[in-house]
This record gives sequence, structure tokens and C-alpha cells, in this order.
Amino acid sequence: MNELLIVGSVALDSIETPEGVVENALGGAATYGATAASLYGPVNLVGVVGEDFPAEHVEFLSGRNIDLAGLQTIIGGKTFRWKGDYLEDLNAAVTHETQLGVFEHFEPNLPDRYRDADYVFLANINPSLQLAVLEQVRAPKFVLCDTMNLWINIAREDVLKVFEKVDIAVLNDGEAKMLMEEHSIIRAGRKMLKTGPKYIIIKKGEHGALLFSGDGADNEIFSCPTFPIETVVDPTGAGDSFAGGFMGHIARTGDLSLENLRRAVVYGTVTASNTVQDFSLGALKKVTPELIEERYQVVKGMVKF
Ligand code: AMP
Repeated sequence: MNELLIVGSVALDSIETPEGVVENALGGAATYGATAASLYGPVNLVGVVGEDFPAEHVEFLSGRNIDLAGLQTIIGGKTFRWKGDYLEDLNAAVTHETQLGVFEHFEPNLPDRYRDADYVFLANINPSLQLAVLEQVRAPKFVLCDTMNLWINIAREDVLKVFEKVDIAVLNDGEAKMLMEEHSIIRAGRKMLKTGPKYIIIKKGEHGALLFSGDGADNEIFSCPTFPIETVVDPTGAGDSFAGGFMGHIARTGDLSLENLRRAVVYGTVTASNTVQDFSLGALKKVTPELIEERYQVVKGMVKF
């Protein structure tokens, strides 16, 4: 089984949605990504937490096929914290506060066995850290990157440097338009294909996701609907779970054909559909590979014509 390398934030989140509030709950892009990907196969996690990071979260992650040799704990340091709400729009978080804490001075140093990774998921974090991790990986076969509006605003050049080095970039619709300075997501997707990645995924929240490929006109765009969920409790981590499920399927199959990338989009979609059904990792913790497979078949049925 191919191991998947994931770097990104490991966080304590405080979130408000129309369904309620949580304070300092387990979160972070790498946390959601790794938990999602661990439904598909083994994960090696690179990140950093402070001394305030509860031991129960470490126990949870290590109990899930997630290797934590790359997760540093900084004595006296504070874990990354993010505060946001989804009161206006469930598809777009409003950030109230980002405390980088131990991520501010983090210098990733990958355990040697992580450096042979074939599959790499650069989850959301400062793009300079994504680059530092990628530089230490010897010969990856397939690398995916995610990012967010904060980094597009304050570190656009670095985001584009990451794009030059990855096979696929995943963004939500607002971020794609912002990064490419376009109003149309179709135009933004096609334009992004010229910045480096062979493939681009644009997520449209509850409206599904588009996979753009530069391979040929017939297969240029694949469109996947979301698995229908009536009550979204907390959308936090949906994007990371999508990318984790996507890369989890790619790593377990080792198949980089466009057909399989399309299947991976569906796996990403159904993985994320679980995340939004509870706060923090609450729902994702309970998901089984069988439930993923059931939802995969439902989405397959939805697009049959
Ligand atoms: P998403 O999948 O986009 O909903 O990701 C949500 C997660 O991203 C939360 O658990 C946050 O802790 C994390 N996050 C928020 N802001 C940042 C940031 N600037 N860098 C890295 N991770 C972040």
C-alpha cells in the first residue's frame, strides 16, 4: 500500500454556524486531510503543535493509520488557532482570527523514510512551508496542493511557485477567481492550467466540483455533484476532506489515468459529505470505508444518463 505524505495545519478551531458553536475543537487542514485519507490507506503527517495540544487528539490521530513521526511538539509553544463563522454563507467561511503560533517559525524536517513519498498532499498552510516540504521529497509521482484566500492575499507569488511544482491544485470557486483575477470559474480554471499543474479542481461547495484537465478537448472538464445532505452542521474541513479522500484513492490505486482521477473526485466528494454532518472531526471519526462506498454508488447513480 502506498503511503501518502500530508503537510498542513493542525489546529484548534472555534467555529460558529447556523447549527451552533464550538470552541477550541480539533481542526486544521492536515488533520481533516489525514483523517479522510486514512479511510483509504496509510498516511505520514508533517506538522507542528504546541504544548497546549490535548493528548487525546494525538491518540486519536495515531489510532487511525496516521504516522506522527513528522508531527513536532514545541514545548512552551501554542498550537495554531483559527476562529471563523459560516453565518452568512455555508460555502464560505468568514475568518475572525488566525493565530499561527508554532507555525510561525516552523521549519519542516522530514523523517528520512517520508522523503521517498510517491504521493504528496500539500494541505493548506503558508505556501513557503509547502515548498520547504516538497524540496525534501526525492521523486514524488503525484503532488496535490490546496491553499486559501489568506495566502492568495499575502503570499500570491509563493502560491504560484507551489503551482509550478505540483500536478494538481485544488481551490474553491472564490479562491480560483481571486487568484486568477477572473469572474468566470471556467476561465479561471483554464487559466490556472497554464500556471503549472496538469489538472485543476475547483470546488463549488454544495454545488459540486469541476476537474479541469489539459489533456484533450473531449475530457477537458469533469463535473461531479455533491452527495445530497439536507443539514450541513459545520462545513469546516470539507475542502481538506475532499482533497484527503481524492489523494487517498489515488495513493491506494497508484493509477494516474484521467478516468481514475475522475473516480477520485467522486471519492473526495463523498468523503467530504460526511465531514459537514457534525462539528470538528465528529462525523468523519465515525465513517467507515463501507459508508464511503455506499455514497460513491449513490453519486454514480445521480449522474447516470
Ligand atoms: P477547509 O477545508 O477549507 O474548511 O479548512 C478548514 C481548516 O483550515 C480549519 O480546520 C482551520 O484550522 C484551517 N485553517 C484556517 N485558516 C488557515 C490558514 N491560514 N492556514 C492553514 N490552515 C488554516
